[in-house]
Amino acid sequence: MQSSLRSLAHGATYPITQHLYTDPQDGSLLDVVHDLSAWHGRGEELRRLFDARLASWGPLDRSGVWRYRELVLPHVAPQHIVTRGEGNTNLYPANADLQRYTGLAALQLKHEGENPTGSFKDRGMTTGVTRAREIGATAVICASTGNTSASMTSFARMAGVQPLILFPYGKVAVGKVSQSLAYGAVSIQVRGDFDAALALVRDAAERLPVYLLNSVNPFRLEGQKSIIIEMLHQRGWRVPDWIVVPGGNLGNTSAFGKALLELREVGLIERLPRVAVIQAEGASPFAAAFRREFDHLEPMSAETVATAIRIGNPANYAKAVRTVLETEGWVTTVTDQEIMDAKAQVDLAGIGCEPASGASVAGARKLVAEGVISPAAEVVCVLTGHVLKDPQAVIDYHSAQMPAITPQFTNPMHTIEGHLEELMAFLPGATVSA
Ligand SMILES: *Cc1c(COP(=O)(O)O)cnc(C)c1O
Repeated sequence: MQSSLRSLAHGATYPITQHLYTDPQDGSLLDVVHDLSAWHGRGEELRRLFDARLASWGPLDRSGVWRYRELVLPHVAPQHIVTRGEGNTNLYPANADLQRYTGLAALQLKHEGENPTGSFKDRGMTTGVTRAREIGATAVICASTGNTSASMTSFARMAGVQPLILFPYGKVAVGKVSQSLAYGAVSIQVRGDFDAALALVRDAAERLPVYLLNSVNPFRLEGQKSIIIEMLHQRGWRVPDWIVVPGGNLGNTSAFGKALLELREVGLIERLPRVAVIQAEGASPFAAAFRREFDHLEPMSAETVATAIRIGNPANYAKAVRTVLETEGWVTTVTDQEIMDAKAQVDLAGIGCEPASGASVAGARKLVAEGVISPAAEVVCVLTGHVLKDPQAVIDYHSAQMPAITPQFTNPMHTIEGHLEELMAFLPGATVSA
């Protein structure tokens, strides 16, 4: 099974063994491309293979990424693989409240916050750190709004390579900073925003002996494809009408399109779902470009309560455009208010997610209201991160302490002296038995 690196801009190809992040001629993005011709027309065989692996205890079969290795990174030698059994995340049916809130009768939530470090980033880090090992890297580096760094640090520790992370100053959620410190990253705050930290990291990766693990690295996206593959496997390969995902650096958006095209190529699915990308209003250069029919990307200075998507200059723009065009997708924005209220609804369902994940549910709701998504459509919203990633946002929301947000679903804390009678107020109509 042959794989190579191909320039997105002009199609030049390079051997998979060559150590590249971007095209050496013009700096454009690279795709990892696999020659899947040997699998053409063998969808049924692949289904049986993936089903059989669900009954295996082999570490690669147990991983929700490497279970699909024929489609992920078929060239990798098993001894290089660094896995934590990532993926295997739940696909929840929406309860009646969430159905009412979104206006969707057939809504499912794919909860990527259930990965080992609490975000979908683990799916890209198992492949990214595996690549780092394959090329013999001794140190790895990333700029991060928090989840990338937590994930990279964990996988780097498992692999025995040195993790180095750069944060935008003072803008990272507490759950994420604490994970990176705990796992032992060299953690550095950069005076500037995420986009400034990423520019520095890209420079460092060219000139210092460190391997770059931001999502401009195409090997990460190969792992993130498995969100789609696993979700479709869970649905018995029944394609939904829409997949809705938050967009920051647009790595997921890019990976989703690539996964869907490859699944169709090998015959695991016959048609493509439409991919809707949701951005926070204060960090929405992709949505603005969509409205201009993708004439060009206009970077912006980003601000949103959803720190994981607080990105003004998305690295994977060109690949994400391809996803939206190929799937006849959509891009829209939601306000911080809509994000936090939608998150509260997901939390109240007992599922829970971090603010950025609320964007997908808020976006699905908005697109139903606008008539883009039909109320009868089968929709999968991707929840990208765990509820414990940003505990401060939860506390601030429920105590109505968020600037410019009027929370619609608060659950305030109560205080009592400690007498049984005081509990009666919380149990309307109850009587005390002897
Ligand atoms: C990284 C991240 C995002 C943004 O994903 P992109 O692939 O960069 O668009 C969204 N939500 C969470 C929780 C994240 O960690």
